[in-house]
Amino acid sequence: MIIVLLGAPGAGKGTLAGALKDELGVHHISTGDLIRAEIKAGSPIGLEIKRFVESGGLVPDEVVTRMIEGKVKSTASDNRGYMFDGFPRTGAQATDLDKVLSANGLAIDFALYMEASIDVVLQRLTGRRVCRKCGALFHLTNMPPKKDGVCDVCGGELYQRADDNKETIMKRMSVYNEQTMPIIDFYKKQSKLKTINADSGAEDVRKALLQILNGKKS
Ligand code: ADP
Ligand code: ZN
Repeated sequence: MIIVLLGAPGAGKGTLAGALKDELGVHHISTGDLIRAEIKAGSPIGLEIKRFVESGGLVPDEVVTRMIEGKVKSTASDNRGYMFDGFPRTGAQATDLDKVLSANGLAIDFALYMEASIDVVLQRLTGRRVCRKCGALFHLTNMPPKKDGVCDVCGGELYQRADDNKETIMKRMSVYNEQTMPIIDFYKKQSKLKTINADSGAEDVRKALLQILNGKKS
């Protein structure tokens, strides 16, 4: 199964993928996580792209497409499928993803548009906390860790992402509206778009996707 998760920052793409990747057996590929790992490692690419992320802009298409290409090439033969989270984010990335997949004999099954309202995403992003060690996601009030500041999964330290501040969030939202929204239409035209209401809690959203996978809803 190859699924693309679409939706504004804070729509819950990473939370949904985190909750379902083991159950579905798919690879969870988050370009945000890949990008943050490069920045943390201080690699040449990381140094080059840090400024884009910190300002709330997008990393150049070629850079993210190369990351995705590498991941797909090295895992395609295990036939586990994918959940792409945060990619594609532009029209060019959407066509690139189709090319990368077809070069490996694969194709997207559907794109899941997680539709969320602005108040909800703002509340989610400002309260979001991330594990420094394993990347698990938490929220101060919606999904608090058992122990303050400590990851339930691995005991790592929780931190607030540098781009999860109000000003950068507003910039990310406008980038999303301008550059990412149009690709919803790209998948609609291919009859691959499924939409769910992502304002509800993580468990309801998880169930909504499982229903789609079981063919109960289109
Ligand atoms: P969110 O969905 O909460 O905005 P992500 O972790 O997906 O967070 O992305 C964080 C940042 O990483 C983005 O604001 C952008 O700078 C960069 N980024 C992630 N994915 C892409 C992508 N596909 N293309 C360009 N930049 C990306
Ligand atoms: Zn952790």
